[in-house]
Amino acid sequence: MASAFAHLVIPAVAYVALKSNVINFRLFILAAILSVFPDVDVLAFKFGIAYESQWGHRGFTHSLFFAAVLALCCSLFWRKLHSHPIAVLVICFIACASHALLDGMTNGGLGVALYWPFEHERHFLSFRPIQVSPIGLKAFFTERGLKVISSELLWVFLPGLLLAIVGILIRLKLSKKLKPLKTQDEDAK
Ligand SMILES: [Zn+2]
Repeated sequence: MASAFAHLVIPAVAYVALKSNVINFRLFILAAILSVFPDVDVLAFKFGIAYESQWGHRGFTHSLFFAAVLALCCSLFWRKLHSHPIAVLVICFIACASHALLDGMTNGGLGVALYWPFEHERHFLSFRPIQVSPIGLKAFFTERGLKVISSELLWVFLPGLLLAIVGILIRLKLSKKLKPLKTQDEDAK
């Protein structure tokens, strides 16, 4: 896996770049949870399910299908999120699917079952610069942990920061352009 911190970058960037009435803090919290949720499958190890099984780690929970179903379920709660069903659907799908894509960019372990249930093959992206992260917090305070942190800083946090800045600038520019025009009466006051 990429580390949980790296996975959280995607919903955080989406939130700060697209922040609005519908892409709000509640939706961000849900998206943040969904961005790490696929790794709930590490529990499979506890139940003796093999890594390479479709039900194992990086199996069905790391598929586009799983992300779509989860996003669809979340979109039913759009009122509770004070949002819009399409916004919830899109942001939740991006958050969950980005998990599989980031894992697919790591340089270790098995690939992700991206196209499950249509095929059970494991896949990596052709570009895999992210150092695979150890499972557990302790392992971060080792030499390998430092390698993981530096590769994620370069390949996830830095591009995320740039995207967020560009998004904020575009959002601010658009909000200025879309400000309602003053009426003549208001100008006269
Ligand atoms: Zn994962």
